[in-house]
Amino acid sequence: MKLNSPMEVWKYLPGTNCKECGEKTCLAFASLLMERKKKLEECPPLFEPKYAEKGKKLAELLAPEVREVEIGIGERARKMGGEDVMHRHERTFFNRTVLVYDVWDTMKEEELRERVRKITEWKKFYVGEFLKVDAIAIRSVSGEAKTFAQCVKRVAEETDFPLVLCSFNAKVIEEGLKEVSNRRPLIYAADKENWKEFLGIAKRFKVPVTLFSPDLDMLNSLAVTFSSAGIEDIVLDPGTYPEGGGLEQTFSRFVRIRRAGIADGNKGIAYPLIAVPMTAWMVHGSKAENALAASYWEAIIADLFIIKYADIMILHSIEPHSLIPVRTLVANIYTDPRRPVSVEPGLREIGNPTERSPLFVTTNFALTYYTVESDISSNKIDSYLMVVDSEGIGVESAVAGGQLNAESFKDALESFKVEDKVKHKTMVIPGLAARLSGETEDVTGWTVLVGPRDSGRIPGWMEKNWPPETVS
Ligand code: SF4
Repeated sequence: MKLNSPMEVWKYLPGTNCKECGEKTCLAFASLLMERKKKLEECPPLFEPKYAEKGKKLAELLAPEVREVEIGIGERARKMGGEDVMHRHERTFFNRTVLVYDVWDTMKEEELRERVRKITEWKKFYVGEFLKVDAIAIRSVSGEAKTFAQCVKRVAEETDFPLVLCSFNAKVIEEGLKEVSNRRPLIYAADKENWKEFLGIAKRFKVPVTLFSPDLDMLNSLAVTFSSAGIEDIVLDPGTYPEGGGLEQTFSRFVRIRRAGIADGNKGIAYPLIAVPMTAWMVHGSKAENALAASYWEAIIADLFIIKYADIMILHSIEPHSLIPVRTLVANIYTDPRRPVSVEPGLREIGNPTERSPLFVTTNFALTYYTVESDISSNKIDSYLMVVDSEGIGVESAVAGGQLNAESFKDALESFKVEDKVKHKTMVIPGLAARLSGETEDVTGWTVLVGPRDSGRIPGWMEKNWPPETVS
């Protein structure tokens, strides 16, 4: 994107404030366009003849620096690339790294189906959402087209995940594609030897294609060749070498490609990048006694390239000690650094509270909220939890910064109609907000009890302090 502020975007909009886009002003729409929360098509006047020239120019200027490529179909489809900045703090990264876990065509059918199910069903609750992985890579180990195709068919029967078909043999890829061409798989990979066959396959089946070469001039040349032939859904693999100087050079290649695409504006190489951390298994071996070391190194390499700049990666270890840190890092890197992770303010019921149950108060900073909620619910304390809008900031900082104060407690009590449900007019505020207790009593007319500084101590606190005289 070559525009740096909503005002710059606004100059290309009709400027009539007609509200057809659902926003009150063109400037508000401009701001949402920059955030990618609205699309140009949502401004119908922009497509009228008198604004068409501006609209066309705006589409060009808003296009992300790195091309966005999608694999899979329906709800499971995953976008990759589409980034505008080298560093997350400059704005945000938009499409999180797509995590792909492998199966291979020499696996026994039962083992294959079981692994596919495990990958598809894996999830882990983290800060209010279930983390999942994204796709399955099917590797040709047999080198046999028919064996590969049968494996692809079985995987497709077992999962609706996007697929990555892996072989340098075009015939093998073609047989596999015949089974799943309607699911928009990514094919992996064309190189300097097989590119003509892969180009033909990508055109015929209309699927995204990976180009492989550790030689960046060759990689650029392949990308220009495919692009000139009308193939734009391209993913680049500059090779992932898992140790020593090879790893250092791999890292350097990823950075150079991304810099060329974003900072230098070289469109010929501005495509999503794929890393293959599972190459760690080539070094550490696949024997059972080496599996721990291999999965450890795979996770380390994955972490490196999640940060710089893999848009998609192929991994092998589905063990929690490897998968959890990798997926958690993705969750953390691909949040908007300008906004704290927050939850909706409101009044939550925990268990089966009555009008005499305690009313706990917390902020809408997601980490705080989920910690408090979990501490209360896991101890089976039937209660209400009033989540106050602190602009997504934790208790201590929000008290210091003024986002949490007596007025915000009063606003929350009123807007969530707490008195309709809680009849004792006693609230328990976090220990870290103790200094607000007196003023809050004055402003709200409620009795304020100061709870523990750590919500893990709520059960012990309850034994000593609940019910107070105001409730019993
Ligand atoms: S529809 Fe277009 S012209 Fe109308 S307010 Fe929205 S941005 Fe402005």
